[in-house]
Amino acid sequence: MPSIFTKIIQGEIPAHKIAETEDFLAFLDINPLAKGHTLAIPKKEIDYIFDMEDDQLAGLMAFAKQVAKAIEKVVPCERIGISVIGLEVPHTHVHLIPINDIGDMNFSKPKLSPSMEELAELAGAIRKHYAK
Ligand code: AMP
Repeated sequence: MPSIFTKIIQGEIPAHKIAETEDFLAFLDINPLAKGHTLAIPKKEIDYIFDMEDDQLAGLMAFAKQVAKAIEKVVPCERIGISVIGLEVPHTHVHLIPINDIGDMNFSKPKLSPSMEELAELAGAIRKHYAK
């Protein structure tokens, strides 16, 4: 059965997309730890990041870097934190989270529940800065 993220790639379920290439996709996390929390994923469905081919893993990191540069232009923060957990969704995803201190990377914190309108507006603003 395809992962929920493969369904997003295939357009079967909606997402607030930030950037897309032939191999990778970035979209806003639906329950963010902070405003601008974005997931960068490979289109090839692989559960565990360290099972990825080296070139695909390097490509994902380079893609995440471009996405992070766009996020930080829109969301005020000290920097973009990066983390890989993967305990919930078995499809490799890199969390990119605007942070100001170490507590902002605490995945045990309650998540936010922004409206679809807020997510759409934010995604549109970040998209404008991607790869510029
Ligand atoms: P984890 O697998 O523990 O790294 O967490 C999976 C992440 O995916 C969580 O932060 C969820 O909020 C996020 N997530 C799950 N479903 C969706 C979705 N349909 N759209 C965007 N983000 C999602």
